[in-house]
Amino acid sequence: MRKRHWKNRKNRPCPDCGKMLTYTRKDSFDRAVGNNSVCKSCAQSDRTLTIDTIEKMKQPKSTQHKKKISKSITNWWEERKDERQWQTLNPNN
Ligand SMILES: [Zn+2]
Repeated sequence: MRKRHWKNRKNRPCPDCGKMLTYTRKDSFDRAVGNNSVCKSCAQSDRTLTIDTIEKMKQPKSTQHKKKISKSITNWWEERKDERQWQTLNPNN
């Protein structure tokens, strides 16, 4: 199904998703091959993945999770402490 006027165009599949990419210029095609560049949507998701990875490296999930748990336990005890204080302050209550 190749059309004759696409003769000067270069096609290469995206190395990530296999989507066929068409290059109108030989130099951009050669550069894309040299960089092993992916299609626009894959480049986008790659960048998101990288940011996610950096965030995960900055704040390891396990540490964050532990902090959350210890904080919630602290809050629980603070609440109980407050209740006891109120009971002491209002013994008739
Ligand atoms: Zn792709």
